[in-house]
Amino acid sequence: MPAVVPQLKSITIGGAVAGIGIESSSFRYGLVHETVEELDVLVGDGRVVTATPDNDHRDLFFGFPNSYGTLGYALRVKARALPAKPFVRLEHVHHRDARRFFDHVGAVCGADADFVDGAVFGPHDLVVTTGRFVDAAPYTSDYSFERIYWCSMRERDEDFLSTRTICGDGTPTGSGARKPARPEPAGAAAARPQASQLGLLSKVMRWNSRLGSRARAIACSACTRSR
Ligand SMILES: Cc1cc2nc3c(=O)[nH]c(=O)nc-3n(C[C@H](O)[C@H](O)[C@H](O)COP(=O)(O)OP(=O)(O)OC[C@H]3O[C@@H](n4cnc5c(N)ncnc54)[C@H](O)[C@@H]3O)c2cc1C
Repeated sequence: MPAVVPQLKSITIGGAVAGIGIESSSFRYGLVHETVEELDVLVGDGRVVTATPDNDHRDLFFGFPNSYGTLGYALRVKARALPAKPFVRLEHVHHRDARRFFDHVGAVCGADADFVDGAVFGPHDLVVTTGRFVDAAPYTSDYSFERIYWCSMRERDEDFLSTRTICGDGTPTGSGARKPARPEPAGAAAARPQASQLGLLSKVMRWNSRLGSRARAIACSACTRSR
């Protein structure tokens, strides 16, 4: 999977780089554009140039993030990729005190979590969510359609998501989906038709497929190997 996966299914890597993107793995890997290694950009005079951090087009490479398309259109983006496990275990820790909340955020960002998210629902209603890849899960929750992921952050202490389950707009620690979590029986997700299996990995695939018409992301296997 990309090191930083945009949480909303419609966000492309071109848009995330041109408009800046941050997600629940950013505490470790940075903003979306900080995972980018190479860009093919259609520039104003009609040329398509490849920009890398150390070639003749490095100014374009470093100027492109947050340029909102003003410097050209990214046709291909090569970004860092990471290995993923089939499930993510979420832990929601509830705080009633902002100082403890921020201390906790600092602590988990310095530890071994794969994803970190924080939500402030009110001065005394704060939640720190950590996500960790796991090989197995007793159930998986589905936050597609009207199921609201962020509601589940207030209601639950623990949750499991499949990287291949239906989750629509929700990433492991994202906040885009819509309805309280309802655990489903083990195996239910696997029984669904393949075509309806959305989720983190399928979101990645959608992300990549959208790029076919806008910019094509190439998983950097060299980066994955070098970890
Ligand atoms: C409901 C919602 C939730 C969001 N949540 C998050 C979030 O959690 N984290 C986060 O970081 N962001 C979030 N965003 C913001 C989102 O990441 C940015 O708006 C992003 O730029 C959208 O990407 P897009 O692919 O939809 O691009 P568009 O909205 O289509 O375009 C955004 C800008 O990028 C330019 N652009 C698009 N593609 C290219 C390209 N290939 N080359 C050059 N320029 C291009 C466009 O011209 C435009 O200026 C959210 C946005 C919404 C609407």
